[in-house]
Amino acid sequence: MDRDEALALDAADPLAPLREHFEIPAGLIYLDGNSLGMLPRATSARLREVVEGEWGRGLIGSWNSAGWMELPRRVGDKIASLVGAGPGELVVADSTSVNLYKVLSAALTIAHDAAPQRRVVLSERGNFPTDLYIAEALARERGCELVLAEPGELRRHLDERTAVLMVTQVDYRSGALHAMAALSAQAHAAGALTVWDLAHSAGALAVDLHRDGADFAVGCGYKYLNGGPGAPAFVWAHPRHADRFRQPLAGWMGHAAPFEFTPGYRPAAGIARYLCGTPPVLGLAALECGVDTLLAAQPLGGIAALRAKAMALTTIFEARVSAACPELTLASPRDAARRGNQVSHAHAEAGYGAVQALIARGVVGDFRAPDILRFGFAPIYLRHVDAWDAAGHLVDVMASGAWRRPEFNRRQGVT
Ligand SMILES: *Cc1c(COP(=O)(O)O)cnc(C)c1O
Repeated sequence: MDRDEALALDAADPLAPLREHFEIPAGLIYLDGNSLGMLPRATSARLREVVEGEWGRGLIGSWNSAGWMELPRRVGDKIASLVGAGPGELVVADSTSVNLYKVLSAALTIAHDAAPQRRVVLSERGNFPTDLYIAEALARERGCELVLAEPGELRRHLDERTAVLMVTQVDYRSGALHAMAALSAQAHAAGALTVWDLAHSAGALAVDLHRDGADFAVGCGYKYLNGGPGAPAFVWAHPRHADRFRQPLAGWMGHAAPFEFTPGYRPAAGIARYLCGTPPVLGLAALECGVDTLLAAQPLGGIAALRAKAMALTTIFEARVSAACPELTLASPRDAARRGNQVSHAHAEAGYGAVQALIARGVVGDFRAPDILRFGFAPIYLRHVDAWDAAGHLVDVMASGAWRRPEFNRRQGVT
């Protein structure tokens, strides 16, 4: 492979026009769309309209006239179409952390009711910390136990004590991808329910929650869904569970009739009961623009086509870096099909400084303690030549020792 081949792939890429849906600063190669997606072109104008028109002039009437109340369901239906869920099954609300609390709690209740000895929430030690913190707190509250498996060991821990298997489909550090269908089937065979965190999957992988046996799912709005910083998250419950169980945060927006203002809680039907408080309208409006960028890919093959392109991008990057930088250890699966849209390398000393040196060159990735250089490839706005050039910059930063420079080794709050 050389640079001309990468350019030829871009020239022949049917998804290439999707890049035009984004504001891309000149000269920037942005490999952090798995952490904060880029700004869609439509978002600024839409937010201006919501702020100045719907809020400024419409004021409180906009809850009815502008459909603000419907936003959690409307945007939810759009996201549902990206993750193999049906209409009316998924809502946008709160953060991923808060939604995890709701679904884990519901799943524990279902599991206990069926078999009181099931008191274990099973997850992985390497799962994203907020998932583990939420599970740990909930387990303590409910007199349950959080059991953490080492990589590849989840199956071994599934037994008659397991209430819930809580997995993040794509490992945030290594990018390793869990096979949702196989793992869900094993959990079900052991009598456990599954909670899937789609933080790095929604908008990135061809997720199929129904086909692959998920019981509950949550995910982020600001990563591959391009919803903007702190965008609200989403929550899905399989319809066979959604109606039967209450979530613990019984706010009025999850009530069957919030504007009857009755003192007693009566849950709304289905997934709507997973709403809690007043919808964040500005955040939802921005998220809808982000989700619409992915829906614009539907006529071009949708998520499956985007995923195929992402595998090509990570392969170009990984192959060039691994070939030229033996001092970097590949921390992701070498087979693109077994990782998310992400490539991670490990280096005991260079990690932080190399990422900072790259940022100074306009190649933005991130560092994940203690030693991971992490690069996410959002195929909707990246080109093959970006993957090629980014790899070249990393090779140069390593070969030149630029990563050692003191200005690249002053730690900032967000890495
Ligand atoms: C990004 C991410 C989160 C973020 O949760 P917030 O509540 O939005 O802060 C949670 N879990 C995983 C696996 C993530 O990758």
